[in-house]
Amino acid sequence: MNAIEISNVTYCYESGIEALKNLSLQIPVGSKVALLGPNGAGKSTLLHHLNGLKLPDKGSIKIMGDIITKQNAPLIRRKVGLVFQDPDDQVFSGTVWDDVAFGPRNLQLTEAEIEEVCHAALGNVGMLEYKHTPPYQLSYGQKKRVAIAGILAMKPDIVILDEPMAFLDPVGQDEVAGLLQGLNYMGKTILLSTHDVNFAASWADMVVLLKEGELLVAGDTNLLINETYIKEANLHLPIIARTFKMVPEFADHLPINEQDAYRILFKWFNEKDKYIY
Ligand code: ADP
Repeated sequence: MNAIEISNVTYCYESGIEALKNLSLQIPVGSKVALLGPNGAGKSTLLHHLNGLKLPDKGSIKIMGDIITKQNAPLIRRKVGLVFQDPDDQVFSGTVWDDVAFGPRNLQLTEAEIEEVCHAALGNVGMLEYKHTPPYQLSYGQKKRVAIAGILAMKPDIVILDEPMAFLDPVGQDEVAGLLQGLNYMGKTILLSTHDVNFAASWADMVVLLKEGELLVAGDTNLLINETYIKEANLHLPIIARTFKMVPEFADHLPINEQDAYRILFKWFNEKDKYIY
């Protein structure tokens, strides 16, 4: 089953800019998808369509089988949580707890239910001990995790994140990457936009390359070592692939990520041993 089914979607801003052009894409349930492309490719515009913040001018989008319409957009937002790039756009209540409880309170859950979902959501992002803290006292990375908890408290099937790694330090990036991995183990479909090919290559199981509002290509992470597509999407090869490319023996067997590099090196050392002895 597809979590998201985008069919021939076109979207034009009032300025006349056509930000999405006849775009079609299917994302199976449980996928980890990285959406890549140069600035202005239409990544944010596409993400805003997936929870009904924007509706297509042409074409349709199905979420877990239901077409998004103006009428059902509020319900769709419970199935698809969107984490904005800047947590300050999303985290604004007096305390971390109130912030995470904001969505569940709007759903008019009982106090006991609110307690349960907020406790679980803050636990999932490792921020329970900060529940009484005002968000302005948190680091950027901690605010980001609270923003994610606010989305999780709505128990979405699909979590969408607009550049979740932007402005995080390396440890913060690892924490968010681990968190996203954990959410995926819980069965959630995750789609994020990123400029970071290295992260996409080690985290995603599907990559989608956009260019000027059009789908360039979608498929597995091997696309990230396809130099034709990489060039067209204004990206560069993952750093591990660039390193291997400098060695003539490996130039035709570029690894996607560190694990892939280990596999290639392991094989090479074994074959080399056989050759020597
Ligand atoms: P990305 O997220 O890949 O950088 P965007 O979806 O933000 O791309 O933008 C896609 C195109 O739509 C760009 O040409 C951008 O200038 C234009 N665009 C984005 N937001 C607006 C807006 N609010 N009004 C008019 N044009 C916009």
